[in-house]
Amino acid sequence: MTNMNTAITLTMGEDGILVATMNLPGRPMNVVGDELMTGIAEAIERLAEPTIKGMILTSGKADFCAGGDLDRMSKWTRPEEPFEASMAMKAVLRKLELQGKPVVAAINGHALGGGLELALACHARIAIDDPRLKIGQPEVKLGLLPGGGGTVRLPRLVGIQQALQICGEGGDLSPAKALDLGLLTALASDRDDLMAQARAWIVANPNAKQPWDMPKFRMPGGDSRSPAMAQLFSIAPSVASAKSQGNYPAVQHIMSSIFEGGLMDFDNACVVESRYFAACAMSTESRNMINTLWYQLNAIRKGASRPAGVASSKVQRLGILGAGMMGAGIAYVSAKAGISVVLLDSTLEAAERGKGYAQGLLDKAVKRGRSTTEKRDALLARITPTADYAVLAGCDLVIEAVFEDRAVKADVTRRVQAVLGGDVVFASNTSTLPITGLAQASLQPENFIGLHFFSPVDKMPLVEIIVGRATSNETLAKGFDYVLQIGQTPIVVNDSRGFYTSRVFGTYVMEGIAMLKEGVHPRSIEVAGLQAGMPMPPLALQDEVSLSLGLHVADQTQKDLAAEGKATPEHPGMAVVRQLCEIGRIGKKAGKGFYDWSADGKQLWPELATLYPVAAQQPEQRELMDRLMFAQANEAARCVEEGVLRSTADGNIGSIFGWGFAPFQGGALQFINALGAAAFVARARELAAQHGPRFEPAAVVVRQAASGGRFEDA
Ligand code: NAD
Repeated sequence: MTNMNTAITLTMGEDGILVATMNLPGRPMNVVGDELMTGIAEAIERLAEPTIKGMILTSGKADFCAGGDLDRMSKWTRPEEPFEASMAMKAVLRKLELQGKPVVAAINGHALGGGLELALACHARIAIDDPRLKIGQPEVKLGLLPGGGGTVRLPRLVGIQQALQICGEGGDLSPAKALDLGLLTALASDRDDLMAQARAWIVANPNAKQPWDMPKFRMPGGDSRSPAMAQLFSIAPSVASAKSQGNYPAVQHIMSSIFEGGLMDFDNACVVESRYFAACAMSTESRNMINTLWYQLNAIRKGASRPAGVASSKVQRLGILGAGMMGAGIAYVSAKAGISVVLLDSTLEAAERGKGYAQGLLDKAVKRGRSTTEKRDALLARITPTADYAVLAGCDLVIEAVFEDRAVKADVTRRVQAVLGGDVVFASNTSTLPITGLAQASLQPENFIGLHFFSPVDKMPLVEIIVGRATSNETLAKGFDYVLQIGQTPIVVNDSRGFYTSRVFGTYVMEGIAMLKEGVHPRSIEVAGLQAGMPMPPLALQDEVSLSLGLHVADQTQKDLAAEGKATPEHPGMAVVRQLCEIGRIGKKAGKGFYDWSADGKQLWPELATLYPVAAQQPEQRELMDRLMFAQANEAARCVEEGVLRSTADGNIGSIFGWGFAPFQGGALQFINALGAAAFVARARELAAQHGPRFEPAAVVVRQAASGGRFEDA
């Protein structure tokens, strides 16, 4: 027996239990939107038939339900629209839990966001006990709040403190953890067991009611009036804003919704939640994040920057030259993806040390129960350490991560090609040396490409693919496919000094350092970086990277540019770096740079004030934040102007994943879009007048300001 709605199939069993199976047509995942909610409303009507005993809500797809329909949300222009949509969803869910018959959510796969909210409105939730199955409210990661009753039902089910954590941090729970918290009713071993348990629950609980609809209901752990919760709410906002610097309004709105909702009855709490949901949905922050971290990221993962018409490929055997910090990391992530790896260094011992890095990570994972000894041993068996180039035979991709030295890199290129010939795709992980120049050492420069990983490779999700002048589309496609194969995110840029990420990231750090020279208090500089939403303040970051490395790269760049007859003025911050290097304060690795570093932590070096006296008149924090952010956004725009960046999505994702550009801004180019080109140009010109021509707005933005354009991809 089936129904008319295409999103949900209704099947009546002989036991009188209705099974509602969500299966949105034409979509890889079930998402909450009008189509699905209409299907649920229809299922509730069927459930009213007297012969029906109860209902199981489950899914016909791999996931249960993965969240809200962002396409629909992106079309909202007035706050009434999200408010009404949120209230309408809750009206259906309220009916579901109050219609008098038991409903069980049979969670066969991920239940996230709106999907979890559907499950919370059921009287029981049973999930398959698979640690990969994700349960959570990740809305906050896109600047949103669970608007389908999540901030109302969760605190009433698992207590305010847990609800704050689940909704405010947006992390995933495994089914086992969710059971522990009381969020799930039971676990099942597989789909058959899941359905059998769901049926049994319905038979055993013919008069199921939600706890919050019982006459003597008390919130677990107390409602917002209880002393423990009052204490929690006196600290939680400050803890949250210490992390978010107030840049993520969704975090505050989630706390307010849970707190205020915890002072009132269920139905009023639902109205409060919808108001905060509307505020989130209309915020620039959520628009920015949805644009970049959802649409643009998905476009990248679907291959928007990959040349069309080249057959997709998979690397079977990978050669890695240099088993240092980077080579070892690349070996680990590649072997983890099932690729067999030859890890070569100048000596077998060095190569084995590189393999030891993977061993260390895996031992830790086994100890923490996140992997097994079998999996560890299988992965390690895929990495062959060697000092012998002949072992590279059969590799279909080679990545070099040897010392950052042109001659060394040219030498290893030739040695590899002596074994494999020029046909093999050869990639360099250089961080600074232009790819076109390095490719000259290759027999076939069209097979040469840059694959710029970030450190530590196993934690950083981005790979910047650099296309040299001669790099072919086939080589680019091969590199792109490999990056996806190892589960990382590729961006594609054209060759240039510092490529895209290092070049723009450098402007952030150098702007902060230049301020020091002007007499800005170092603490104000650092705070400005954090307030602007950057993960690390500029001076501390330069200490981490090391001042001597920064100086070395800058000197090399000046030398190269002079040789090309293109000498450029040095950044004002460089004089500070030079001066500190001269007195041995080269950064964290020496225990001293802008900070004194010790085992207990770091402290700004008190003598900085002697070298760079703090001016009596200090600029406003806003001015400092603007400088730090405009410097980056403007440089990113220059990368568009010069053809280094090939797409807006790559520019935005590269900035957030590569160096942590404030995610709520949606990336370095979205920063300009959100402000509007005309406003950006006006402010950049003000900054240029005050601080120098480096702030002169990039020509592409000036043109956009005149024409009303913005950074967009086709
Ligand atoms: P590293 O010094 O830790 O490792 C380099 C390894 O290469 C050493 O094990 C060394 O023995 C080996 N090596 C040197 N010459 C060799 C040769 N002729 N044949 C075989 N092996 C040789 O350096 P790293 O930090 O891993 O950096 C490697 C490359 O990656 C550099 O080009 C660097 O610029 C780039 N990179 C580094 C980072 C970073 O954060 N460290 C980030 C991105 C890119």
